[in-house]
Amino acid sequence: MSAVLVAEDLQRRYELRRGLFARPALVHALAGVSFEVEAGRTLAVVGESGCGKSTLARVLTMIEPPSGGRLLLDGQDVAAADAARRRALRRAVQIVFQNPYGSLNPRQTVGAALMEPLQVNGEGDAGAREAAAREMLRRVGLRDEHFGRWPHMFSGGQRQRIAIARALMLRPRVLVLDEPVSALDVSVRAQVLNLLADLQAELGVAYVFVSHDLGVVRHMADEVLVMYLGRAVEQGAREALFEAPQHPYTQALLSATPTVDPAARRQRIVLAGEMPSPLAPPSGCAFHTRCPIAEPQCRSERPLLAPVAGRQVACWLRQQGR
Ligand code: SF4
Repeated sequence: MSAVLVAEDLQRRYELRRGLFARPALVHALAGVSFEVEAGRTLAVVGESGCGKSTLARVLTMIEPPSGGRLLLDGQDVAAADAARRRALRRAVQIVFQNPYGSLNPRQTVGAALMEPLQVNGEGDAGAREAAAREMLRRVGLRDEHFGRWPHMFSGGQRQRIAIARALMLRPRVLVLDEPVSALDVSVRAQVLNLLADLQAELGVAYVFVSHDLGVVRHMADEVLVMYLGRAVEQGAREALFEAPQHPYTQALLSATPTVDPAARRQRIVLAGEMPSPLAPPSGCAFHTRCPIAEPQCRSERPLLAPVAGRQVACWLRQQGR
């Protein structure tokens, strides 16, 4: 199967002004990330806050342009597309944000919120738009009478269902899910995750699932990309990565993830310090300031991704079989 979404060395830099006469500083929020996602599959992007995963979400959804690299959707280079084609490509990638309270307009009924994307894109007449919105409500597990209600009348889980329904109205090829269950009560998280799995099986949409929570990722992902300071440090199939993580950062993240399976419990690896500022990333391997097994070489030379145990890992020691 060919990939729906391809990222080739995607980069995003920001200029930061620190005073009237000071030279602007360059922040590499996304320093070169590559991956492919097929229809009906899920790529999870994992890392702590500040690792670049939300920047990646904004670049994938074309909210921000990349500063380098290429983004291809169904084989078409987004940057090379003309204005009309770009509009069509933009429709094909939709996003669901973390906060279901902030993502819906409080002055718009649920029905109006679902019909709006169709209206803006000139799809169908009023009757067809209403029928499509009612059908989508049903698909996300809400009832017909919810159509005329206001967002404040719903729980957090229901609002996130509405946000998912709205994102699916234009039948996107790719849905970027930016921490979609982090703001929800634990009791409703599983219901929303199950809904997302059902919708994917039904519609064949590809997911890019952005999360800091490896417990959630374990249930959703086919492939996993672990990010640290704007770069991928480990990337591969979910089973292999969860069973035998290779990069010391992935090992530390996994060791901190609660699990009910006693056999899967790992000794907790506590990382020293905070993630460094992307304004002044450490030399060499960016993880060396917190890595429990760093060696002198790690401070001066940056490891690239290379094959280790059936996946890609950016670590000198692992690449040497240590
Ligand atoms: Fe740790 Fe060195 Fe590997 Fe970086 S390259 S993860 S510092 S051992």
